[in-house]
Amino acid sequence: MHKPIRVAIVGSGPSGMYAADALISQTAIPVSVDVIDKLPVPFGLVRYGVAPDHLSIRSVRDTLDKVFDKPGVRFVGNVEVGTDISVANLRDFFDAIVFTYGASRDRRLGIPGEDLDGSVAATDLVAWYCGHPEADRATFERLIPSATSAVVVGVGNVAVDVTRVLAKTVGELTHTDMPEYVFDTLRRSPITDIHVLGRRGPAQATYTTKELRELGELLDSDIVVDPADLVFDEASDQLIATDKAIARNVDVVKEWATRSKSGKSRRIHLHFMARPVELLGDERVHEVVVERTELDGTGAARGTGATFVIPADFVVRSVGYRGQPLAGVPFDETRSVIPNLDGRVQDGTQVVAGQYVAGWIKRGPTGIIGTNKKDATASVASLLADVDKLPTAPFATTADFDKWLAAAGVRAVGNEGWRAIDAAERALGATNGRDRTTIATNQDLLRAANLVSE
Ligand SMILES: Cc1cc2nc3c(=O)[nH]c(=O)nc-3n(C[C@H](O)[C@H](O)[C@H](O)COP(=O)(O)OP(=O)(O)OC[C@H]3O[C@@H](n4cnc5c(N)ncnc54)[C@H](O)[C@@H]3O)c2cc1C
Repeated sequence: MHKPIRVAIVGSGPSGMYAADALISQTAIPVSVDVIDKLPVPFGLVRYGVAPDHLSIRSVRDTLDKVFDKPGVRFVGNVEVGTDISVANLRDFFDAIVFTYGASRDRRLGIPGEDLDGSVAATDLVAWYCGHPEADRATFERLIPSATSAVVVGVGNVAVDVTRVLAKTVGELTHTDMPEYVFDTLRRSPITDIHVLGRRGPAQATYTTKELRELGELLDSDIVVDPADLVFDEASDQLIATDKAIARNVDVVKEWATRSKSGKSRRIHLHFMARPVELLGDERVHEVVVERTELDGTGAARGTGATFVIPADFVVRSVGYRGQPLAGVPFDETRSVIPNLDGRVQDGTQVVAGQYVAGWIKRGPTGIIGTNKKDATASVASLLADVDKLPTAPFATTADFDKWLAAAGVRAVGNEGWRAIDAAERALGATNGRDRTTIATNQDLLRAANLVSE
């Protein structure tokens, strides 16, 4: 029998949970795994990204949660690596570290006016409506009830999610686990028009058909597509002919372009071949200057110089996520990922012994939740193949680590604490006739975990 190893996983999103599962499910090497997260609750973007009204996708967390039932796997929440404990310190307690801390920064548009009041990143809006403890509640509770026209920049699934949440009636959302304050704010939303901007054509948009279709099925929101925006060059025709998913997406918007408005209270305007070039306003944004684009034959878009203006007092930038560096770990600034070879962290051409990476911080923000399973399993295979070369941690027990955290004043949430939070959220949901209501502040989460009493 091989000697037991201790592995720290930094981040409890899907990639961290799949990595823990892959480690614990093999029998050749005895492993104990601590899944560390800066938040008091696990599951990363499955809890704080996936749209709350997509219940079946969010139920993935039930599958991920089963990993904590397996002997040898611990949740260590409310511990931020880089702040509460350094990577160098972690190495004292674990033979190997797997970085799975995701890619949580937003990409910027790089246009004038981007920082005006009323212009927000989709990352922040999503965090707010999902009840992330670090979300800026005051900003959204001020902006949404005072906005009438919104622009969403981007045509990926996240852009579609935020558009749908802004366009739905509160009645269409009350079955979700969104915190009460989100319903209260959305109930007061005077937004009547949501303009979605895609810089390329309908054949190049990156949303998926299921998510797209939902925009045309909302209770009190019409969908508006200008037939003139449906531009297809030779390369687009080729894509439509060879890719069924793209052909389906194009069929959906073509059908919408023939629909007449039915007089609903809200309208979603889908604009293709249109990119924002400037946000105008004194303090708060009140207009978006949009440039018409054309396809250049390779699938890319270029500006035509022709512009038009959309009145808007709320702008959501949804043009992607990027990773951020963690002190003590190599980082590729160009790709915003941790450089690696088959999941082994690399510093230049050298492999860093005992350090591995998986998920969005390994490959960038691409793929679906399931993509992280294959990815994390591959990184774990590299770790297990290296097992005889791992540096041995000097303090090799769970108790040593817990003692260090306690001495540093870190109140870690363990499996029991997480179970208590889970139960408290279900109980809170039951009082509102729902399965669950998200507890949205760190203080309340720690109180539910029985870590603070006041
Ligand atoms: C808005 C949005 C909606 C999405 N919807 C879907 C969908 O409907 N279907 C689908 O298949 N995919 C969806 N995805 C993609 C899916 O969420 C990702 O593929 C997946 O979450 C990536 O997993 P990850 O573990 O790499 O990162 P994450 O899920 O981001 O997990 C990272 C974890 O690391 C923690 N962390 C960060 N820094 C530290 C630190 N310093 N110390 C300790 N912990 C740290 C974070 O708190 C977080 O829990 C969506 C993504 C977004 C952004």
